[in-house]
Amino acid sequence: MTIANKATAEPCQQNTTSATFPNRLTFNGLDANAVKAKIDIVDYISQFVDLKQSGHTFKGLCPFHDEKTPSFVVSPNWQNYHCFGCEKKR
Ligand SMILES: [Zn+2]
Repeated sequence: MTIANKATAEPCQQNTTSATFPNRLTFNGLDANAVKAKIDIVDYISQFVDLKQSGHTFKGLCPFHDEKTPSFVVSPNWQNYHCFGCEKKR
């Protein structure tokens, strides 16, 4: 009988999403190509921004400007984002 209680070290974890975003400011350096090539933009951005689903888009506080109410919208369908506060978009 084999032992089931070995440490859960999953070797094939594909979570190599380089989380090299030290702070919100560097969000400006968002690598659009990396986003497109690798992962869903919502997954990616939600590492840095707290996104809440709203219909078929996601909303969160904009990383590009200071705000209290979320005007930063991410659309998984279009794989892009748009801020209605500071008009940043991809
Ligand atoms: Zn903004």
